[in-house]
Amino acid sequence: MIRRLPILVALVAGEPPASFASRLAWANGLSFASEFCADQGFALQSLADGEEGALSILAQLGGVDRAKLLRGLVTKTSTGQYLVAGQLVEKRWITRRRLRFCPQCVAEDIAASAVGGAAQRCVWHIPSIRACPQHGCRLHEDDSYSHSRGPHDFAGRIRDLGLEPEQLEQLVVPQAPTGLESYLARRMAGERQDRWLDDLGFGAVALGAEILGIVDLFGVGAKPKFLSESDKSQAGARGFEILSRGELGLRDLLGAIHRDAGSPVSLSRRHYGCLFNWLESHTRTNMNP
Ligand SMILES: [Zn+2]
Repeated sequence: MIRRLPILVALVAGEPPASFASRLAWANGLSFASEFCADQGFALQSLADGEEGALSILAQLGGVDRAKLLRGLVTKTSTGQYLVAGQLVEKRWITRRRLRFCPQCVAEDIAASAVGGAAQRCVWHIPSIRACPQHGCRLHEDDSYSHSRGPHDFAGRIRDLGLEPEQLEQLVVPQAPTGLESYLARRMAGERQDRWLDDLGFGAVALGAEILGIVDLFGVGAKPKFLSESDKSQAGARGFEILSRGELGLRDLLGAIHRDAGSPVSLSRRHYGCLFNWLESHTRTNMNP
């Protein structure tokens, strides 16, 4: 029988279990989530890896429904992908080590006594989501890394930054979420929205939209790695409009590429540039276990 901890904190919607443990630790007098977990007989990394046993213990300690805790689950799958809040994401398209957060969400968490420190949100793991869906501001990225804490002790990492409310306020840069970002965030919250897109893989929508938008806005010869975050955000928004129109949208885009290249053209790498590269790398990653 595992007893509830004397001091509980509210689970935040879309919060990964390791972040919940980080806040429970602090509320109950321990600064390091790893130390807290070790005291309870499991490793913090086990929560980050989605191990059943550790998750069950955490749910009981924190007095939360296990199913609710699992809504924010982040776990590796056997195919080199991650499952993030129920969505499959390729390993290279998830940000976990880098500290990425919405300064307004963090400020509100810190100010709310029932939250017990800053809670991480699953959407901050997704590089294609660059704005907070709730506050309409840019997600902030911080380069600091604590070897003693590791990547998953979120509330501890935020405390280490020592940001005062005014400093958090200064980090707020207004940026309205694009249609793509809102769609992805709502999908991670478990909402079904549009039959055609909902049946596509999460990564295919996130990256496909960006690539289609890059092709449409910057041409087939554009190299995604040389584009700014703002260009990619704009491309994601444009590509999402194309994808949302389904087959018609894709036909129009391919038609435009053909027109630009001069008709008739063969399906060559020269004319389909980064679209071709994306399809190839996407297929290769999915084929290799
Ligand atoms: Zn926010």
